[in-house]
Amino acid sequence: YAKKRGAGALSYFDESLRHTAMRELAVATALRGAVARGEFEVYYQPIVATRSRRTLVFEALLRWHHDGVLVSPGDFVPVAESTNIIEEIGAWVLDTAIADLARLRADGHPDVSMSVNVSAKQLRDDSLPGLVRETLAKHGVNGDCLGLEVTESMLVDDAQKAESVLVALAAQGVLVVLDDFGTGYSSLSRLRNMPISVLKIDKSFVAEIGHAPSALSLLAAITSMAEAMSITAVAEGVETEQQMAVITEMGCTFAQGFLFGRPAPLDTWLSAQNRQR
Ligand code: C2E
Ligand code: MG
Ligand code: MG
Ligand code: MG
Repeated sequence: YAKKRGAGALSYFDESLRHTAMRELAVATALRGAVARGEFEVYYQPIVATRSRRTLVFEALLRWHHDGVLVSPGDFVPVAESTNIIEEIGAWVLDTAIADLARLRADGHPDVSMSVNVSAKQLRDDSLPGLVRETLAKHGVNGDCLGLEVTESMLVDDAQKAESVLVALAAQGVLVVLDDFGTGYSSLSRLRNMPISVLKIDKSFVAEIGHAPSALSLLAAITSMAEAMSITAVAEGVETEQQMAVITEMGCTFAQGFLFGRPAPLDTWLSAQNRQR
């Protein structure tokens, strides 16, 4: 019986594995040349100062127009990453987001900054600081107007390499942003040698406000640690005024979430006057 059951489990596993592999292959094939075909678009989501609720930063969030559907990064970034296509896509996102930052600053948002997500592969590439420098120069934007979002796991795997790339970026004034904080297994103190300026508290903590009593003490611990390390705390996924009140009380100086705006095309954020032309 045990043997039979084992065999059944194995063949089920095989099926799902084959399905995943075929899906990944299909996505990888469709991604090839997608940049050149103009299938990507960058959406922007505001990040506001908790005190004034003014938008001081936009986060660039990639979208893929594929077969008449708008595909979210969760469905293709992992495949792009495992097939090296991410390098081309990443460079395109950086160029587009910085070009759009220059437009936003010229039109209605004179002092906003831009925050761009980078992948593990990009971060391990020595050419990233040079690419960032060239792209900023191309669009006449200063390094201190740009944040690059990385996650804990990227800093823990091959920490020395990550640190040298981050130090080179920080030397240009670029802000290093630790994204989705709290979902990994590292501690902030373990990352104290990294030049981190901003920490984004993962939306799963914010979602637990008002539901799990431990959410408040976890938020308090993260924000006080960030403060002790002179790191700016941003709350992600703020959807309600109740969550906003709590994260403000906890000392988060910035907030991002549907309460303030969903990711949307650049045009949505340009001044109304300009949009009419
Ligand atoms: P992330 O960087 O943590 O981005 C925040 C995600 O949370 C976005 O999902 C955003 O739409 C969503 N979000 C924002 N506010 C709220 C809210 O109030 N409630 C809820 N439930 N969700 C909210 P999105 O756009 O699907 O992006 C998913 C992830 O894909 C990003 O997570 C980021 O890790 C990755 N990603 C996005 N753009 C890029 C890119 O250009 N390059 C790379 N390498 N990764 C990217
Ligand atoms: Mg992000
Ligand atoms: Mg995040
Ligand atoms: Mg995320």
